[in-house]
Order: sequence, then structure tokens, then C-alpha cells
Amino acid sequence: MIHRHAHIAGTNSERTKAHNRRVVLGYVQRGAGAGRAEIARACGLSTQTVSNLIGELETEGLVLAAGRRRAARGQPPVVYAFNPDGAAALGFEVRPDALVMVLSNLGGRILASRQVPLASAAPEAVFKLMAHLAAEAQRAAPGHRLIGAGLVIPGPFGVEGLSAAGATVLPGWSAEAAAAGAAEALGLPVLLEKDATAAAIAERMAGAAQGLDNFCYLYFGTGLGLGVIAQGLPQRGAFGNAGEVGHVVVRPGGLPCDCHNRGCLEQYASRMALLRHLASRGLLSGEDDPDAVALALLAAADAGLAEWLDDAASALSQAVGLLENLFDPQAVILGGALPDALLDDLVDRLDLPPGSVARRSARQLPRVLRGASGPTTAALGAAALVIHDTVTPRLDTAP
Ligand SMILES: [Zn+2]
Repeated sequence: MIHRHAHIAGTNSERTKAHNRRVVLGYVQRGAGAGRAEIARACGLSTQTVSNLIGELETEGLVLAAGRRRAARGQPPVVYAFNPDGAAALGFEVRPDALVMVLSNLGGRILASRQVPLASAAPEAVFKLMAHLAAEAQRAAPGHRLIGAGLVIPGPFGVEGLSAAGATVLPGWSAEAAAAGAAEALGLPVLLEKDATAAAIAERMAGAAQGLDNFCYLYFGTGLGLGVIAQGLPQRGAFGNAGEVGHVVVRPGGLPCDCHNRGCLEQYASRMALLRHLASRGLLSGEDDPDAVALALLAAADAGLAEWLDDAASALSQAVGLLENLFDPQAVILGGALPDALLDDLVDRLDLPPGSVARRSARQLPRVLRGASGPTTAALGAAALVIHDTVTPRLDTAP
């Protein structure tokens, strides 16, 4: 059987041991159990190198001997399997009003999760809370060694004007300080990612995008973000800000936005826009749980909520058509911090533009899908970054 990623070959030089380790672990993870000689052949490594790495991975609990395979002649080889419970990764999502934590095993199974409202999203307070939640999660799932943490915050990173003001950004946070502060508080290596990109990675690992190599993910955080996976890899842009779709103008001359544009997409289709609309109709007050209120209004087919849904769906329909024509994805996925029932209703109300490359009679998937990894999707994506980094050879470090 030919494995899709096996073309990233290993090398026998000591300098690239970390790379070889990823190549071997990634092969074992994707394979259905392989012996040392087969792994060596498939990864382009010597049997000795593979034996050393397998020994190390076995000691760390990441790989298990899974019996012997029947052979035509001679001693049947021991086959090795990936052990998803050999370690775990933490994922954190910082939103302006909440901290979400997920502890995931290496197979993307959630071992513990928590969402804590934030009175203040000041970095120091958030780092302290992260350390507290990490300790709590480890007590809930003892026996899983932590290999790292992923941290997601809303973009954009380091853009004057866009990141200086508004309800959808985190005041006082910068990308560099966030990763360094979290690493210090947790005592772990920390990988940083934008919320929408992390959510797309989670959706591909354990949600509606499993098996998809090309898709767009519209992420409802406080605002609206976009994660693009193209040929299996997240697209980040030169400065990590690719996918700032919330500030694409869909209604010229429309509602003013903190970014100084008018008619930005996230002024219509976002959690922030929903809450503002419900408050303006007197349907939501300060003490209410917004999700519970929105779900009750949806169940009652409330006209005030329907007004927002129609308006948001109309703005989103334009955005979906734009994404289809720009990226030619297998599907566009809507997900994130809105209840599933509300996202389903939004998908039902979409009136997608006919002038799109996505209109093919041989489509295998609907043009738009609702995400399936739930409200902790971005935090799970943060943990997935760590997992991905452990088992996937990096193209930029390949010899
Ligand atoms: Zn804007």
C-alpha cells in the first residue's frame, strides 16, 4: 500500500534525527501495523536507524509492539502500532470573554475540557488561569504525559488599526508575548495559532472535514475568521494573517466597523452581531446566557431572531461564493462558538450565488457543511497543532 505522505523521505544523518523521528512516527500512525524492515523501506532509512528510533518511541510509550505478523518464511517480524494514549496535548483558546481548555490524547480524543468566563482578558490573569486549568486537567487524566500546549487567539497579528480596537480583539496581547507567557506559566513548549486556522485543523482531525485536503472554514469566534486548508496544509500568509474575512466588505456603505471600513462581513454574520441584534430588540439582557436565549428563540421561531438569521445568511452567502471562486474548496464549513442548531439554521437559510465554480453536477459534498467538533473546536485545534507537530515531518526542516 502506498501511503500518501511517504514521499517525504527520511535521511540517515544524525543532524536530522528529529525529522526522522517524525517520519517514522507519522508512518506508524497512518499504517495498519508495520515491522522495522517495512518501516525502513517505506521511510528511506536504514533498519538500524529505524530500530533505534522505534526503541526510543517505545520507551516513551508513543509506539507499541502489536504482535507478530505471519511471514512466508523465517521469523515473523514484530509489528508496531501508534499508541494514541502514549501522551497528551493541551489546547487553549483565549476569547475576549472566555478561556477554553481541552486536553486531548494523540488521537484527538478529548480527555478533559473546561470553559471559564473571563472577567478580564489581561494576559497575566489569563496565564495564571491556564496553569490552574492545566493542573486540574492532568489530575482528571493521570497517566498521560504532556508533550506540549497549543494556544489560539483571535487574529490579526501585529496590524495597526485592525488590532488596536474593537470587541473582537484581545487588548494587550501580542503573538510573541502570548506564546512566551503561556510557555512560562505552563512549563511546556507552546505553539501559537490563529483561532480560525486551529479550528480548521481540529475539524480535519476529528470533525466534518475528515478526509478533506482542500476546504475553507468560517469560524464564529466573537467576530468571524477564516481558516484555509489547501493540499492538506493550513495557509497562513506572510504574517500569519491570511483569512481575515471578517473585514471583507459585503455591504458597501453599510454598518460602520471598528476597522474603519463600512459593511464588513462580521458586522452581519458573527456572534457579536447576533448579540447586538438581540439586545437591540430587547430579547437579551446583561444577565442572560446568550446561547440559551438564542436557542429558546430559535425553538419558538421568533421573528426577531429570524430577522438576524436572514440578514446573516445573506451576507454569508456572498462570502461563501467568494471563497468558492477564490479557493475552489471541496466544501465550506461553518463552525465555532455558536450553538449547532443555530449554525444548522444559518446553513438552511443560505442562498448561494449561482455564479460559482462550486456548481458541479458531480459534487460529492454539499457546498456548505456545519462543523462537527463543537464549541471547543479551536481549543482542540490548538492541541492538534502539538499532535501534528509530533507526527508530521516539517517540509521546512526536510533535508
Ligand atoms: Zn471591519
